[in-house]
Amino acid sequence: MNSSHLVIALTKGRILEEVLPLFAQADILPIEDISKSRKLIFDTNLANVKLMVIRGSDVPTYVEFGSADMGVVGKDLILEYGSEGFYEPLDLKIAKCRLMTAQPVNSQTSQGRLKIATKFTNIAKQYFAEKGQQIELIKLNGALELAPAMGLADAIVDIVDTGNTLRANGLEPRELIAEVSSRVIVNKASMKIKNGVIREILGKLHRAVDAAK
Ligand code: AMP
Repeated sequence: MNSSHLVIALTKGRILEEVLPLFAQADILPIEDISKSRKLIFDTNLANVKLMVIRGSDVPTYVEFGSADMGVVGKDLILEYGSEGFYEPLDLKIAKCRLMTAQPVNSQTSQGRLKIATKFTNIAKQYFAEKGQQIELIKLNGALELAPAMGLADAIVDIVDTGNTLRANGLEPRELIAEVSSRVIVNKASMKIKNGVIREILGKLHRAVDAAK
């Protein structure tokens, strides 16, 4: 960890599109167009603040180990990773969606051992354990919606926004596991060592979130 500058890890893709306007509102601006570059780290208008752009599932790792001081990542990935390794001081209230179970339309939920396909294996394990439901977990990394139709699973646990992806694949949402939005996370040591600059950035982002309401 370099104490002279601050690194913020952003999640690429859908979250980035909503995060950059919020950061602009908070007066944190990359000095080049992130969407037009293949670089992974960018200087900003603030002398000592850099933005990294990486996969969401890697943001908690970078922040926990202090290679990034702060990060922006979906609550789904925080729940999956576990939140003991960092602070989670701010809900940016963007990229909202739901983590849900989904099954083929009108299918009965079997009382026996359910086969669940998901990339959120820790969340699924905990959710069904709390319900006392026995499951067999099948880890997939994408295109989960195909799994029930192909006979691989009875149900899936996945992110749902409009529900269009589920419907297009003959599935319907069933149980809500968690409401999801993007959160700011902060490395625990950075919060002490770089408290002044981190508090300042959190304050600016807080005001940007309030202004966006
Ligand atoms: P939808 O068809 O609108 O329900 O969108 C569902 C798909 O979009 C899911 O398979 C997710 O992978 C993705 N998705 C939707 N919202 C988000 C979000 N806020 N963060 C990450 N992925 C999302």
